[in-house]
Amino acid sequence: MTVIDDLIEALGTETVLTGEAIGERYRSDASTTGKSLPLAVLRPSNTEQVSLALAICDRHRQPVVPQGGLTGLAGGANARGGDIAISLERMSGVEDVDTAAGTMTVLAGTPLEVAQLVAETAGFLLPIDLGARGSCQIGGNLSTNAGGIRVIRHGVTRDNVLGLEAVLADGTVLSSLNRMVKNNTGYDLRQLFIGSEGTLGIITRCVLRLRPLPAARLTALCAIDSYTHVVSLLKSAQRELAGLSAFEAMWENYFRFNAEALNLTFFDKATPFIVIIEQDANGSDEDKERFETFLGKTFEDGLVTDALIAQSEKEARAFWSVREGHLMDQLLPGLINLDVSLPIGQLDDFAGDCEKALFARFPAAHVSFFGHVGDSNLHVAVWIESPSEHDLHEIDAIAYDLVRKYKGSISAEHGIGTLKRDFLDHSRSQAEIGVMRRIKTALDPNGIMNPGKVIPLRS
Ligand SMILES: Cc1cc2nc3c(=O)[nH]c(=O)nc-3n(C[C@H](O)[C@H](O)[C@H](O)COP(=O)(O)OP(=O)(O)OC[C@H]3O[C@@H](n4cnc5c(N)ncnc54)[C@H](O)[C@@H]3O)c2cc1C
Repeated sequence: MTVIDDLIEALGTETVLTGEAIGERYRSDASTTGKSLPLAVLRPSNTEQVSLALAICDRHRQPVVPQGGLTGLAGGANARGGDIAISLERMSGVEDVDTAAGTMTVLAGTPLEVAQLVAETAGFLLPIDLGARGSCQIGGNLSTNAGGIRVIRHGVTRDNVLGLEAVLADGTVLSSLNRMVKNNTGYDLRQLFIGSEGTLGIITRCVLRLRPLPAARLTALCAIDSYTHVVSLLKSAQRELAGLSAFEAMWENYFRFNAEALNLTFFDKATPFIVIIEQDANGSDEDKERFETFLGKTFEDGLVTDALIAQSEKEARAFWSVREGHLMDQLLPGLINLDVSLPIGQLDDFAGDCEKALFARFPAAHVSFFGHVGDSNLHVAVWIESPSEHDLHEIDAIAYDLVRKYKGSISAEHGIGTLKRDFLDHSRSQAEIGVMRRIKTALDPNGIMNPGKVIPLRS
């Protein structure tokens, strides 16, 4: 019997898709890596089916690729020809909200936005939030340790997970569904699966930590004349605004490109930096006044040259629409979005060096910068006309060689997947990569879990 025969016998043809039945969506994630048809797509409905599927694949030494919402930007969910994709899409739903503890238990295939809405209905905030919220899944968020726009206040995904259930390559179900903040009982196994991009097991459900839902949000758009002032503004905001929940910076050409694309004008004059500051608030007039006073003071101190406070949710959305820059992908098809971390004080020096080095090699390139500056996370948007594979590799090499020079990280939040795999040693030591290999071998001795992702191939 082939692996497909065994899978169909155990799970049925409704769960095991092959040939023509495999839809276009399973062929690639949102990265710019190539599309490939998996050998089959499995769509299990529960943990037991995931366990059965993995045990069969392990017996056949059949490589598998977990797939969530396929919004990943590192190629981690892409199947190579011959791989079997395991989609979590049918394992969707919030199982429980514990209002006393402030936790929710969620199936891995639940779209992030669905979980956020359930939390809100129960009076809580699920702090994991990113632009792909409508399509990405909780399991994908955990597997990539997603960052996003609320990290400055509530941490990355890792900081918001209390427990999880995962299935190992041999089908073992590891239930670690802890619900408590404090639990010091030996190795913290959940952390192995968070950020390991499906290379150690498949996450099937998890317990997430919720926070009180803010009654209101105050949002401002600030024009700033130097990067030194951006950093000073960040420090003041962290000191003065108790509920600071976002501090997002756009370099001038990123802001201009996206504002023009959206046909929006905010300021009379261009400035080198534009920052969105957002604060969770209690909805009172006093809170609003404190926010206005804070901004007035930054103006007097010369940190900000101009500022707008959103007077409605619609206005706040307009600020965010420029930052999210969704039209950029349409106007510059094949846009490359590099995601790196650097010491906060050096983000602009890096941007200058990176722009210079990219222009030296690709004089007609579009290069612009934006990022979650409060979390030391910079995004570099690069576009060149009809790039070859070699050009794409050169762009990565230029940026990541500089990241190494600045002692930064080649991935702040998107993960490693295949796109950054060969640059992992720019940010992790050989000893660290060696331990990763040993953990991988211990949990997945036959190497069936998402092979070729994250860990560099042996030469
Ligand atoms: C418009 C847009 C905005 C984005 N903004 C951000 C942002 O602000 N911050 C950020 O961090 N990312 C961002 N991303 C990237 C992406 O949304 C995140 O990486 C997200 O967490 C991926 O979730 P997914 O469900 O789509 O995972 P997928 O793309 O399906 O998979 C990602 C990786 O996780 C693995 N995986 C998926 N599900 C499981 C599971 N249940 N168990 C084990 N492994 C699994 C896959 O094998 C793959 O390696 C953005 C992407 C887009 C398109």
